[in-house]
Amino acid sequence: MTSDCDKLRRVHSSSNEDVEALLRLLHQTETELAATKVALEHKSQELVHALAAQREIEAELHQQRDWRDADRRKDEFLATLAHELRNPLAPIRQAALISKAPGATDAQKRWSHDVIDRQVQHMSLLLDDLLDISRVTRGTLALRMQSTELSSIIDTAVETARPTIDAKRHVLSVDVPSEPIQFTADPLRVAQVLSNLLTNAAKYTDPEGQIRLIAHCDGESVIIRVQDSGIGISAAALPRVFNMFSQVHSTTDRSEGGLGIGLALAQGLIELHGGTIEANSGGLGCGSEFTVRLPRRTPRAPGIAPDRPATVANTSRHRILIADDNRDSAETLAALLRLEGHEVTSVHDGPVALSAFNEIKPDVALLDIGMPGLTGYEVARKMRQSSPGASLTLIAITGWGQDVDKERAYAAGFDHHLTKPVDPRRLAELLRF
Ligand code: ADP
Repeated sequence: MTSDCDKLRRVHSSSNEDVEALLRLLHQTETELAATKVALEHKSQELVHALAAQREIEAELHQQRDWRDADRRKDEFLATLAHELRNPLAPIRQAALISKAPGATDAQKRWSHDVIDRQVQHMSLLLDDLLDISRVTRGTLALRMQSTELSSIIDTAVETARPTIDAKRHVLSVDVPSEPIQFTADPLRVAQVLSNLLTNAAKYTDPEGQIRLIAHCDGESVIIRVQDSGIGISAAALPRVFNMFSQVHSTTDRSEGGLGIGLALAQGLIELHGGTIEANSGGLGCGSEFTVRLPRRTPRAPGIAPDRPATVANTSRHRILIADDNRDSAETLAALLRLEGHEVTSVHDGPVALSAFNEIKPDVALLDIGMPGLTGYEVARKMRQSSPGASLTLIAITGWGQDVDKERAYAAGFDHHLTKPVDPRRLAELLRF
């Protein structure tokens, strides 16, 4: 019994100690937990920072990769551009040599002139595309919206693409509703897009292929599809075809020519109209389809200027002064205009242009803008001041074709603005008064 009592007393005292020990342990654990919590919070902060830093590095790497890609595409583009601009020079030089060879027959001379004409036109189109894409990317391209009819736009596009289509003996079928589709658009720009799609269809299809253009209206949209039976586009390349400088078949199709900006330009022009353009293909070898959707009615956007009306009346001979510091350009243009029966004087700088103007009193002056002594703008302003009210047509002929350049020319007193190389037919139209 005694021993039982002792045992109980010992148990009691030991359980007190245990409780105290437990309490101490609990307290210690609590302190440790608090410290661990602080350490964990610290760690988690560190992790958050590390993650943020890693994301920043990843974004930077991404951006560097994008820059490298853009840089590589730009380099490839410059190489292609040099190649494309150099290409027409050989036939032009050879044709020029043929046309002045003593033994050349009239037929050979005519043929060499056609070659030069064709190649110059090709170069002009390339340069126009380059100027246009730079205007689209800088947001300075203004559409000339007007009420227009779809089939006449399609006719223009087909006419432009026809030589490439015929050269590869493709069969083109055009499927347009019989009733006229009237809508608001810039007809020249839409025709430019469609001729680009048709030309691509011809370029990227083996000879004797099939090309179809189908147009219809769907509610408030005008829908135009260009389909071909050509080399097609892989699923991986499809999302890239509208990127600037992208040429998805670059190794196989370099011979087809092109700068890789046609589709980027087409997309820019269609988006300016408030429309969309998309590409589809069943894959390589399965042909391609491009679909353009244009809103049937486009609100008149600000900054859309109507073309200056050309002065058109009956044909007559003019007394013309040409001022251009590029002598070859001035003299060849003068020769061309003389062949058309005009009386022409050519000079090569601004001050001489002004004294010649006062002396010969021309009724038309064709002025380059960047000339030594006085710019074309200054010359035009002074000509207007010195003969107010005189019947004088001033035409700017420059390498600068941006809309701001045209506006500047009109503000200086020019009636018309032509971009070099001047299209002789357009010039002849302007001189028909
Ligand atoms: P390019 O001047 O090279 O023709 P584009 O911008 O018009 O430039 O076209 C970009 C690329 O898209 C072309 O280089 C070509 O690889 C591809 N492509 C365009 N149209 C077609 C088509 N109808 N069929 C197959 N590939 C096409």
